[in-house]
Amino acid sequence: MNLHEYQARVLLRDGGIPVPEADVAVSPEEVAEIAGRVGGDGGVVVKAQVHTGGRGKAGGVKLAKDAEEARSHAEAILGMTIKGLRVDKVLVAPIADIATESYLAVIIDRESQRPVVMVSRAGGVDIEEVAAATPEKIFRLAIDPRYGILQHEAMSLAFKLFDDIKLVRQAAAIISKLYAVFTHVGASLAEINPLASTPDGAVLALDAKIVVDDNELDRRPAIEALRDLSAEDPAEVEAREAGLSYVKLEGNVGCCVNGAGLAMATMDLVKYYGGEPANFLDIGGSSNPQKVITALKIISADSNVQSVLFNIFGGITRCDDVAKGIVAAIEEFELGRPLVIRLTGTNEREAVQILEKAGLTALLDMDEAVQKAVEMVGEVA
Ligand code: GDP
Ligand code: MN
Repeated sequence: MNLHEYQARVLLRDGGIPVPEADVAVSPEEVAEIAGRVGGDGGVVVKAQVHTGGRGKAGGVKLAKDAEEARSHAEAILGMTIKGLRVDKVLVAPIADIATESYLAVIIDRESQRPVVMVSRAGGVDIEEVAAATPEKIFRLAIDPRYGILQHEAMSLAFKLFDDIKLVRQAAAIISKLYAVFTHVGASLAEINPLASTPDGAVLALDAKIVVDDNELDRRPAIEALRDLSAEDPAEVEAREAGLSYVKLEGNVGCCVNGAGLAMATMDLVKYYGGEPANFLDIGGSSNPQKVITALKIISADSNVQSVLFNIFGGITRCDDVAKGIVAAIEEFELGRPLVIRLTGTNEREAVQILEKAGLTALLDMDEAVQKAVEMVGEVA
């Protein structure tokens, strides 16, 4: 689950990290009011609140010298689209004087299977380019989760960012606190970019990004309450509400599978036969025709999908229930592309009968089905 910057800033502040006082607004009038309140003499920065980075480069971060200018920036930013996401809210924060911009993040690293702290002096808006072109400018340290980050580890990371011991000490404290926030909220990523130093020697967080691991949400209702459904992909929201695990991908073979492992294996096989999966979709272990209908709706709403592949291994999931769902779905709406069905396991015979009655055929072999679904890309149904 992605948090907005304004939400992440509150979590960082609660964790004791210095973050300039800010507020969030949905209209230019509100922006002008907040600017008058938080801006002081130095003016404010108006920042688009969308679930993506690169807002600065897209024109979604603007400095204003006073409340009037803040209002006119807000008029431009509210309603603009950044990487396909519409801006409905903006953050208004006092402008900080920046001497340097560093990068600081904690992520879950698959390779070391640990939280890893990443720091770089080359922070700011170009960190992706730094990572690609000059990865040696980014330092990483894997943390042993049994002990958390130790003080000397935080200090040695902070020395990668600053030479002045006064700044180093502040950065070390921020690194330790960011690690604490990261574990407290169940994050898979917590990032501060820029971690700025000011001309008068303070170190501040001027941006905040937190991604929470969905599996951590059940025991953290206060964090789950921060979910902004309006900012999420509508198909993923619908899928989650229906109890499906769905992740949209870039390809054109729509996949509907039961079980996460089989879903992964199916995607691998689609690629093996030269295709590209349009999604990961796990309908789960229960047999519920309604879930199948919702799954097919979600898949066929994706205009990239050019063929649809069902791959069901019936255990607890009953193949006849899945077949009923498929038949009900194609009666309810036009699928519009070729459909390849493979099912095997519990009640497969009943399933085949149900499908044949509706004029559909089912395959038993997974390789054959995947190959066929890949071949049928681009063909009319
Ligand atoms: P992002 O582009 O989505 O990562 O948005 P950021 O919040 O990181 O803002 C992008 C850039 O705007 C930063 O790297 C800064 O250079 C600049 N910026 C953001 N906040 C301030 C501020 O308070 N003062 C100044 N001078 N620049 C800022
Ligand atoms: Mn940033």
